[in-house]
Amino acid sequence: MFKLVRVNMSTKKCTFEDIPAAYAGMGGRGLTSALVAKEVDPTCNPLGPYNKLVFAPGLLGGTLCPNSGRISVGCKSPLTGGIKEANSGGQPGGHLAKLGIMGIVIEGMAENGKWFQLEIGKDSAKLVPATVAGLDNYDAVAKLVKKYGEDCSYVTIGRAGEFKLTAASIAFTDRELRPARHAGRGGVGAVMGAKGLKAIIINPASGKNHPLKHEEAFKAAAKRFTKALTDHPVCGQGLPTYGTAVLINILNEAGGLPTFNFAQGRFDKHESVSGETMNQLTKDRGGEGVVSHACMTGCIMRCSGLYPDKKGKLIGKWPEYETIWAFGPNCGVSDLDIIAQYDKICDDVGVDTIEVGAAVAVAMEAGVLKFGDGKGALKLLKEISQGTPLGRIVGCGTATVGKTFGVRRVPVVKGQALPAYDPRAVKGVGVTYATTPMGADHTAGYSVTANILGVGGKVDPLKSEGQIELSRNLQIATASVDATGLCLFVAFAVLDIPDALVAIVDMLNAKYGLSLKTDDVVTLGKSILKTEREFNKQAGFTKADDRLPEYFRDEALAPHNVKFDIADKDLDSVFNW
Ligand code: SF4
Repeated sequence: MFKLVRVNMSTKKCTFEDIPAAYAGMGGRGLTSALVAKEVDPTCNPLGPYNKLVFAPGLLGGTLCPNSGRISVGCKSPLTGGIKEANSGGQPGGHLAKLGIMGIVIEGMAENGKWFQLEIGKDSAKLVPATVAGLDNYDAVAKLVKKYGEDCSYVTIGRAGEFKLTAASIAFTDRELRPARHAGRGGVGAVMGAKGLKAIIINPASGKNHPLKHEEAFKAAAKRFTKALTDHPVCGQGLPTYGTAVLINILNEAGGLPTFNFAQGRFDKHESVSGETMNQLTKDRGGEGVVSHACMTGCIMRCSGLYPDKKGKLIGKWPEYETIWAFGPNCGVSDLDIIAQYDKICDDVGVDTIEVGAAVAVAMEAGVLKFGDGKGALKLLKEISQGTPLGRIVGCGTATVGKTFGVRRVPVVKGQALPAYDPRAVKGVGVTYATTPMGADHTAGYSVTANILGVGGKVDPLKSEGQIELSRNLQIATASVDATGLCLFVAFAVLDIPDALVAIVDMLNAKYGLSLKTDDVVTLGKSILKTEREFNKQAGFTKADDRLPEYFRDEALAPHNVKFDIADKDLDSVFNW
């Protein structure tokens, strides 16, 4: 019953095919990376006709397993020049899975200036001229909902994607039809724009949950997995109460909250942008504000609240920790109301908040505007949608801003901005930033767990010992989790409660009639990383690309006075297993 849909933007032909043998048993990041590695020339222009854009729900999609509806997006990245997988919550992943579609492959490209939208339903796929070109995500989705209805889910790009800016994201609608969930990293939205694809409309009618080889065994394992998530203090209490912004005060205390473009590790106004403050303000203002909101059906961790303005009117979703950090401490801005507006603007025009927040901080370092100039940053973000030269520069991300304004301290690896954890004070995540095939990406091996949170063991974040092994093991585990369609936040429970991983493997076995062991999860993760590393090598990457910018080795970070001191030869050993 599972199919791959190929959409040729050059010929406008859409075809359903059985899953080719080369991709049998793959899902999520496993499928996107295998397909990109096999079918895309690593040396091709990412914004040309030879790149492919792949959408894939995970192996546990289309089931009642909690938090299993995420969707992976893969391609050659126009930001890094290497392989890319970015994943998102929202409804489309679950809808595609229930339609039996395990992958959509967008190939070729439309004639210059022509825009199309893809209508997907049960056993049907059709390209039609786009009715929403020139609109940002919120207006585009509102217009699409009028035409196609509230039961569909929507995948769109904003103007940033249309302009092919290299920080452009792809938006996925949540349960309330807001385009607020994004495959953010690596410029995947620019690839969709280059193809001439403005939107995908997914009609889930006649879709159904996947058949299970062993239904009772699946239900029993799903129950154990649910219990592990609800019992764990981070998954069951911290995330639903404070969102991911619970990390602001924690990282500040640890001295690893990058502030003023990675100049120091603490922000004196951290309390005003913390998860605790956002929770209180949401409750106090009431109105349309909500604490604990699920971005997709089946999510039981509900990290995503809804942010109200002073009158209780909705601004947008609760900004995530990385967004608050990027535009808050990193830019010296301490007003949560304005940060919520930045998040909404980024969701609307369709850009990655980490990449663009870090780009604004680099613009501040260059003197384009002052640190702490919240209104100036707002004006700058609005310029992205207006398509001004400065807006386009910021919308192309941190490295582009650094080059344009001659800045030395540009926090990128493989051209992609470092996220919200200073690698000098959280050294395990520094190893991940340097070595993951994705470019700087905390989610690729979230060493913050053992470095800071004491989850899955404890490794001193300020020392170099143990960081290579920690990052290696987490990169392997994460590649596997990204293949299942599970939200990465399940990892907190998986690292602390041994039965959680066993339950995941039991669900895979019960769904597909397999007899996998937990060791097979490691084998799968290694195989995905190997595929991705090989693609990057063919694209021209060398060991020199697995390094942090030199200033992280030269400049000591307050308050712990630490530098990034992990030897190059050790970084080069991460993938020696
Ligand atoms: S935990 Fe948060 S990011 Fe994960 S699926 Fe739920 S709402 Fe979405």
